This record gives sequence, structure tokens and C-alpha cells, in this order.
Amino acid sequence: MRDTRRVNPQTPQPDVPDAASAGATGVDYQAVVRDAGEAMVTYDPAGRVTSWNAASESLLGYRAADVLGRVAPHLASTDPLPHGGRGLVDRRHRDGRDIALLVSVAAWHDRQGGVAGWTEILRALPDTLPAPPGVALTAARSLARALENAEMHLVYQPIVRLRDRQVVSAEALLRWRDPTGGELSPDQFIGDAEREGMVGALGLFVLRSACAQLAAWRRDGQTALPVSINVSARQFRLPDLSLSFAAALREYQIDPQWLRLEITESAIVDEPDIAAARIAELRALGISIAIDDFGVGYSSLSRLRQYPIDTLKIDHSFVRDIATDHVAREVAGAVIMLAHKLGMTVVAEGVETEAQYDTLVALGCDCGQGFLLGRPLPQNQLAALLAAG
Ligand code: C2E
Ligand code: MG
Ligand code: MG
Repeated sequence: MRDTRRVNPQTPQPDVPDAASAGATGVDYQAVVRDAGEAMVTYDPAGRVTSWNAASESLLGYRAADVLGRVAPHLASTDPLPHGGRGLVDRRHRDGRDIALLVSVAAWHDRQGGVAGWTEILRALPDTLPAPPGVALTAARSLARALENAEMHLVYQPIVRLRDRQVVSAEALLRWRDPTGGELSPDQFIGDAEREGMVGALGLFVLRSACAQLAAWRRDGQTALPVSINVSARQFRLPDLSLSFAAALREYQIDPQWLRLEITESAIVDEPDIAAARIAELRALGISIAIDDFGVGYSSLSRLRQYPIDTLKIDHSFVRDIATDHVAREVAGAVIMLAHKLGMTVVAEGVETEAQYDTLVALGCDCGQGFLLGRPLPQNQLAALLAAG
């Protein structure tokens, strides 16, 4: 990826068991410290905090929640005090402590002495905290800065009803325009964001941008479209995901029917219990769920059957050969038929040719998305396309 430096390859990967045993698990707490605090705080050479970047409290909250979820999963969901990012931010408001520093120092002290556990550390920290050593610029910091500098934005790709080619909804896709004018697609930075605890902050940005767009379309009296947003597997597991959806819907006064959520199969099959809970919470809010890139995750439709999923998006790799290869056509046809039996709407991804389009119509597929039907567009171009009919 451009414009960011990758972190030390020893950066801990997500599956740290829990805080009480973490001291003995060989986790690179130095990296955890960096991950938690450095994007938020500036230190002088003596290690004293010189400035606090309060640009976005919610960003901080989500970041802290990510870190907690990774290092001390039990705290992120059960401890009444630092409950997720929101709780951390509230706590800062209550006692004036610097949460990012608090989290990072807690990790550092844990590494130093194997002190009892995170809860005790968080409670016992004095008001004047020694800053942890070892500050370096990371990809997380670049991502945080990109969010603060408005380098991120959404583009919208039409989703088209095949029978009459009407645009029926749009998928919001994230773009990062770096200061040199280059545009990065999410595949180039979502992975880093996931690894570095920034996925909550990015996800919140996407959610709020999409809601703001829906509110603006409504305000301008334009033909509004339901918008689908992508949620990565890690983001899907954040304990307060549905709270942030509820808050955004409330803030922008969006009817939940206008918002859809796309998750991949792996978000479900890797953590089935969390996924079931999350889907139930989101559906209780009135938000519908789509499975993205279906077919690449080795799960079967019968396995997904137990979840209340509204839409199945067939991955473009399954669409590519349907017009030329009868086996590919049979497979797509079987998936479409089964999905319909399960009450799902089917969207074919990556529709690039008229021959693919005709085959999908013949197979009874409901909707399509792809360069043939419409490229991802800035919102004003999408609005112009809709106005032109
Ligand atoms: P996706 O959700 O499956 O999105 C569809 C991707 O296919 C988009 O790439 C789109 O530009 C591309 N595409 C659309 N039509 C065609 C076509 O006809 N042919 C081909 N070859 N490609 C087509 P993009 O925008 O680069 O996004 C890539 C992936 O990044 C997305 O795949 C999604 O998984 C992820 N992503 C995008 N936006 C977000 C976001 O806001 N948050 C998260 N967590 N992930 C995102
Ligand atoms: Mg998608
Ligand atoms: Mg997809």
C-alpha cells in the first residue's frame, strides 16, 4: 500500500486469548502500545505527553475498543467500566483521563510486570501517567490522518434490476485519495486497517458518510436509493456495531430500510455465534443483510440457511464464465434457484458483458452489478444518472 508504512511484522495478530494470560503468551506488547496510543498522542524526547489529538473522539473510542477487543476480549464486552469504545470515551469525560494513553500504558505495564489484569490496571492508573516508550509512525497513524484530512470518500455503484435495467439500489465503496492525487481502492488498505485496530474508525466513517448522503438526497428531493455498505469481518465482530448503526440512523433520521449491510461468508462461518447475535441485533433495527462474494468462502447455502439473510451476492468469479461454460452456468443456476427457495434476492456481481446479462436473465437472477450496468460513481454523477432516467 502506498503512503503508509507497514508495522513491524511481529505485530500481534488478532487471536490473543485474554489479558490475564497475555503476559505469558509472548505477545508483542510494544506493538500493542503503539497500536493503542501513538496515533493519538505526541511525546517530547523525554517521553512526556506534549499534545493530545482530540480530532475525533468517536474515532478514538472505536480504536480503543478494537485494541481492547484484541488484547482483552472479555473487557470489551463484559466489563461494565470500559465497555467498548463508548464506555472508554465516557470514562474520559468523567475523570478527565486520556484514554488512548490509558490503554497504551495499561498494555505497557502489563508487559513490564505481568500485573494482575486489565481491569485492575485501568482502575489503578494514577492521573499522571508515564508515557510508554517507542513511538513510530504506523499505517494506523496514516489511516487516522487520512480520516481527519478528509482523504477518504465513498463512491456509489448502481445495483440494477435485470428484468428492466432499473437502478434499484447502490453499493457504497470506499476510496482513499492520497495527497498526491492517487486513488487507493479498499483492497489496498482494509487489510492494514484490520490488523492495526483501525477498522472500527473506518467503518464508522463509512456508516456516517452513507447516512449523511441518504439524508442529503432526501433533503434535496432527489430520487433516493437504498445504500449497501460493506462491513469487514473484524468490524462485524465489534461488540457495539449495532449501537453505532442505531446511533447513525437516529442522528441522520434515516429509515432503516434505506440501509443495507454486506458481509462475507467468513464473517459468519468463522464466528457463528457472534454472527447470529449481530445479525439479530441489526435486523431488530430494521437493517437488511446481504452475503457478499458468495461462492469464494467455501460455505454452503444450507449452512447459511439458519441465518435470516435477505440478499445473496454471487461473486464475480462465478459470473465470469456463465455465458461460455455450461458448468459455470449450471452452478450459477443452482445457486440462484436455491437462494430463491430460501427467500433471498440474488445479485450477480461483476456483470461485464451483454452475454452474461442475457444468461443471468435466463437463469432468473434478480439483480446485477458490474461495469456493464454502471461503474462506481461519485454521488453527484449517480444522482445525475438517476435523474436522466
Ligand atoms: P465488493 O464489496 O465485492 O465490491 C465490488 C468490487 O468489485 C468493487 O471493487 C467494484 O469496483 C468492483 N467491480 C464492480 N463491478 C465490476 C466489474 O464488472 N468487474 C470487475 N472486475 N470489478 C467490478 P472495490 O471498490 O475496489 O472494492 C473492493 C472490495 O473492498 C469490496 O468488494 C469490499 O469487499 C471492500 N470494500 C469496499 N468498500 C468498503 C468499505 O467501505 N468497508 C469495507 N470494510 N470494505 C470495503
Ligand atoms: Mg460489497
Ligand atoms: Mg462483492
